[in-house]
Amino acid sequence: MTAIETLSLQELLCEEGFACECGKVHKTDLKYIDIGRGVISKLPERVRQLGGTHVQLYADGNTWRAAGEQAAALLEQAGIPCEVYCFPQKRVYADAAPVGQAAMHFTHACDLIVGVGTGTVNDICKIMAGLTGRPYIIVGTAPSMDGFASDTSSMVSDGLKISLPSANAKAIIGDTDILAAAPMEMIGAGLGDILAKYISICEWRISHEINDEYFCPHVAQLVRNSLKKCADNVQGMAERDPDAIASVMEGLVLSGLAMAFAGVTRPASGMEHYFSHLWDMRALEFGWEEHLHGVQVGIGTVQALRVYEELLKVQPDRQKALDAAAAFDIEAWEAHMRTFLGGSADGIIALERREGKFDKQKHAVRLEVILHKWDAICEIIREELPSYDTVVDMLQKLGAKTKPKEIGVDMATAKETFVSTKDIRDKYIGSRLLWDLGILDEFAEKLFE
Ligand SMILES: [Zn+2]
Ligand SMILES: [Zn+2]
Repeated sequence: MTAIETLSLQELLCEEGFACECGKVHKTDLKYIDIGRGVISKLPERVRQLGGTHVQLYADGNTWRAAGEQAAALLEQAGIPCEVYCFPQKRVYADAAPVGQAAMHFTHACDLIVGVGTGTVNDICKIMAGLTGRPYIIVGTAPSMDGFASDTSSMVSDGLKISLPSANAKAIIGDTDILAAAPMEMIGAGLGDILAKYISICEWRISHEINDEYFCPHVAQLVRNSLKKCADNVQGMAERDPDAIASVMEGLVLSGLAMAFAGVTRPASGMEHYFSHLWDMRALEFGWEEHLHGVQVGIGTVQALRVYEELLKVQPDRQKALDAAAAFDIEAWEAHMRTFLGGSADGIIALERREGKFDKQKHAVRLEVILHKWDAICEIIREELPSYDTVVDMLQKLGAKTKPKEIGVDMATAKETFVSTKDIRDKYIGSRLLWDLGILDEFAEKLFE
């Protein structure tokens, strides 16, 4: 078989996909990736190649100015009619309302959707593409997150942050002249979303070790390669060098592709993302200020690295772990969840009832595996994770934030966020490992005082 991690982005788009030793055929619906200077001019050609004759274009105020106007003009010059809907609100939130707006302003005669933006605009357009069955092209305006090539949309639904299945883009246009002009905060956010992959790959392997969860070494290597490309280009990013920006954009596209290949979010998201998801949920519930996904994820990554550095000093203790699980009070946990997350807690409590991660028997079984494989787990952490200082350094080169308090999260809230990362999805991550070892609260006290 072909080792997918050795292929170029274009080669990875091969239609038949790649039959892998992990048992899956890794393939994507994505047909074209254009990254480079001036590549927005390819938009009309890509529309035609995908059979489009009449375009529905979505943008928001900022992305319209950054590239939307230019995209619409290019289509017009090429004789392709284009209907534009520009979200009127100052900030588009990833909840049901803008999906409704997009649906209500969709022109049914249109046979192709073009999204101009990043983050939420892209997420909403992917949902619209899925619902309407129209092919979709994303014209990126900032290298700020890795959702360009993924087939899920990160949305808040009934108070819970979820990965909603949506549609893949058929073409991604990343014009580096446009991307390099994005606010530095957004470029830093893109780096944050990429550095997160150190944690997600590490936790994917750990869960494979403990729970025998599906894992693909080739997809993991694909992600490590994209990480390296970005880590090597941090200085260039700070200088807005188009080649460095192209590397980041490629890294972001590749990591979305890795998720699509694996069919799970494991290659690209772990505990660090859950810090961000929880802050999003609290923003929605309590009217807190929302921050860019990648900014929050960057901060989450730094926190996760502190946790793992500390974890390497631990000698697991069977009795301590069993005692902590026996003393765990699920009613108190539910009450606490409701105080911390308000209405969003309902979904989390329902999730626990289905999954039963606190079940004492299941815990005892997991614990034996953990104890048996402790050396292998520590080895994975040492292999996958860079030092805390290295990552802080990279983020600070771009002026990106690294501490919760820099986005207005006090230490007490950061501590509760860390403890609650174990609860929001049915995914085995670092905080769950700590809970299994009976040392989660101890870590929270120590690291977030
Ligand atoms: Zn595979
Ligand atoms: Zn992300």
